[in-house]
Amino acid sequence: MNIIAHEFKISQKDREKIKDQNSMTIWMSGLSGSGKSTIANNLEFTLNSMDYHTYILDGDNTRLGLNKNLGFSEEDRVENIRRVSEVCKLMNDAGLIVICSFISPFQKVRDQAREIIGEERFVEVFVDADLETCELRDPKGLYKKARAGEIKDFTGISSPFEKPKDCIVLKNNNIDDLDANVSTLVELIVGNQRENKK
Ligand code: ADP
Repeated sequence: MNIIAHEFKISQKDREKIKDQNSMTIWMSGLSGSGKSTIANNLEFTLNSMDYHTYILDGDNTRLGLNKNLGFSEEDRVENIRRVSEVCKLMNDAGLIVICSFISPFQKVRDQAREIIGEERFVEVFVDADLETCELRDPKGLYKKARAGEIKDFTGISSPFEKPKDCIVLKNNNIDDLDANVSTLVELIVGNQRENKK
């Protein structure tokens, strides 16, 4: 392969400096309907009000554009996560705090994300809501369709979800959990920023 990376004058550090922040990726995994996008939305709202520069990458949105040629087979799920991880890496390089909301059901895809993005910038979070709770919420009617056999390879029903270990776990079964979970992540991010400024 005759491709050699260019070195540009402005580095990640320079971009972070004028934003007065350290870039990082908050990677939320969990079942469909567990609350990842809701937490991402409220988290970004709070961070934005604190003048942090952020961006949300969401599974549904990226599958409507960048990854619209991918399905839900294991092979496509791996490629889906590889591409969005590379996008996270670029956005971190641009100096942004990236908030990700991806079902990312397999340990190997989460490990792949960590490897691409880099251990030092990657914060893994498991949004943990019971399958029954997610199925009751079913905001897009997908569980109903999956149970009726109208959607194949649906995580939790006809495709496995390997629960992440050794990461931040946010229980998100009840409405009261929501604000507490957002606060946990805000504290973590702000704490990380302080740590890195010392
Ligand atoms: P995901 O992005 O994981 O698929 P969503 O963020 O879209 O899940 O949430 C699914 C549904 O559950 C939405 O209707 C949302 O308003 C609701 N929801 C999210 N968190 C909670 C919670 N802690 N308690 C009750 N409902 C919630």
